[in-house]
Amino acid sequence: MAKQRILVCPVCGETQQETSVCKSCDNSLDTDGLLYAEGSIGPWSIRDPKSPFLPGMTYDHLAELARRGEVELHTILRGPTTRQLWKVARRVPGIAHILGRCHSCGEHVAAQDRSCGACKTPFLTYRDRNNFGVDLTVPSEGKVEGMSSFLSDSSILDTQSTPLTLPPREESENKNAEENTGSPPFHALQRKNKQDGRTIRILAVVLTICVVALGTTIYMLMNR
Ligand SMILES: [Zn+2]
Ligand SMILES: [Zn+2]
Repeated sequence: MAKQRILVCPVCGETQQETSVCKSCDNSLDTDGLLYAEGSIGPWSIRDPKSPFLPGMTYDHLAELARRGEVELHTILRGPTTRQLWKVARRVPGIAHILGRCHSCGEHVAAQDRSCGACKTPFLTYRDRNNFGVDLTVPSEGKVEGMSSFLSDSSILDTQSTPLTLPPREESENKNAEENTGSPPFHALQRKNKQDGRTIRILAVVLTICVVALGTTIYMLMNR
């Protein structure tokens, strides 16, 4: 009898029989689905007892949920502007204004406002995916909402992470790189100079040996 393969959903951690769609979080588990899931992981969370094991989400993802009404004034959130402590959405900087409230004074505002008309508090966006807002500089600086008020799915995948870099060069390649500074004729000259120096040193050693040998021979001949 063939063994049944057991799979752990990379997104929510639910253990299940091998499948293409997670039975618990509904995420598609093919390459595209996982890329999408990865792209929306970030430092913001919604308190949801029905799915407590999901990773956090990006600011853009959460803001989109707020625009769609899936996050409301009394939804419990946490993120960089709450220092990862749970807070009611209408008090959360970066999100409250999307829900029509100033996070600072509670004034009614419009979602597209850039600051509060009553207390002048600015409404900023927090798109740094890697800053949880728990270090000394809490949270990483917010930005004034730019031209991206109309978010597409592709912009959710847009990350600010440091791009992958090439592996460090091999030692030998570095040596070559050192020699590669300068023009080819210059290198030819350099090599020739090195060669000449070596030849002179060899000649000097040979000459010394000859002189010593000659001296010894003359000495022996004279003392016979
Ligand atoms: Zn899952
Ligand atoms: Zn205000």
